[in-house]
Amino acid sequence: MKEDYYDILGISKGASESEIKKAYRKMALKYHPDKNPDDKEAEDKFKKAAEAYEVLSNADKRARYDQFGHQAFDGGGGFGGGGMNMDDIFSQFGDIFGGAFGGGGGFGGFGGGGRQRVVKGSNLRIRVKLTLEEVANGVEKKIKVKRKIQAPGTTYKTCSTCNGSGQVTRVTNTILGRMQTASPCQTCGGAGQSIDKKPADADAQGLKIAEETVSVKIPAGVEDGMQLKVTGKGNDAPGNGIAGDLLVAIQEEEHPTLKREGDNLHYDMYVSIPDAVLGNSKEIDTVTGKVRIKIEPGVQSGKILRLRGKGIPSINGYGKGDLLVHVNVWTPKTLSKKQKSFFESMKEDEHFEPKPESSDKSFFEKVKDMFS
Ligand SMILES: [Zn+2]
Repeated sequence: MKEDYYDILGISKGASESEIKKAYRKMALKYHPDKNPDDKEAEDKFKKAAEAYEVLSNADKRARYDQFGHQAFDGGGGFGGGGMNMDDIFSQFGDIFGGAFGGGGGFGGFGGGGRQRVVKGSNLRIRVKLTLEEVANGVEKKIKVKRKIQAPGTTYKTCSTCNGSGQVTRVTNTILGRMQTASPCQTCGGAGQSIDKKPADADAQGLKIAEETVSVKIPAGVEDGMQLKVTGKGNDAPGNGIAGDLLVAIQEEEHPTLKREGDNLHYDMYVSIPDAVLGNSKEIDTVTGKVRIKIEPGVQSGKILRLRGKGIPSINGYGKGDLLVHVNVWTPKTLSKKQKSFFESMKEDEHFEPKPESSDKSFFEKVKDMFS
């Protein structure tokens, strides 16, 4: 039977956040391993208190614990069996003790000695312009990038300040007694290495700028403002660090006739009065080339023709948008005498009186249908 978290910290079920923090602080100081060397019981109590605090200090976890008890965390990959390890506990300390223990820097002799920090190169950011066709079909772009690379001929040696551990430890006297604190080495920035020899064209870190062509695969369906990451194509890190990433921001170029709206495309098709009356066919732009579409005799201005699957593929890989062709009957502003007399002769003809049927839905109803 696992002990109740409130009992472990010696607090009531209704304890406030600050009461929980205070109780844990007290326990952590009392049972701290540096104060109780080789005391297995104190270490157990220290770990139990940390586990209880981890749950009760988090409103969400606390609510689950209050409702389901320890079962709330069984099997869920929580603290089910093994409890917390020392690294987890010490990383909690920054929050509780502020700078008193040197932040989350850890305690000497715990957690298996000094951990070496992996130094990462800085990220690079570039922008890439895409046409609507490239967005619709996906594209592989070759991009010239100026990135820092390790200059050939640079050699490294073990940092003499930290002897390669990347950390410097300091013994200080604190309220808990003598304590060892560790912090990243200032000389090598935590890498454990420093430069031995470097060529003249390298900077202080042994890096130099070189132009490289990077191939970036851009999937179909990307949108303006999206960012793709090419791992390891940012600046190199000195020594045995790892390179940063290349972040590629997508910029969409405007298409002369097609307008994008999410995965759908819109096209304004202008139809002459004779074509609208008599019917015809017309070539229009799509992202995969031109297509010819039929204009039925008697087509109404404002009608929307939907070409299914002629839009942009969904970036998530689920289907494609449509191409919506908006019919606009073009009315001439000026007429010759002959044309004018033709239309005047039609003026009194009842056949030209608008008689909308239910199939000639208003624009607003069509838009409503489209998105329902
Ligand atoms: Zn060092």
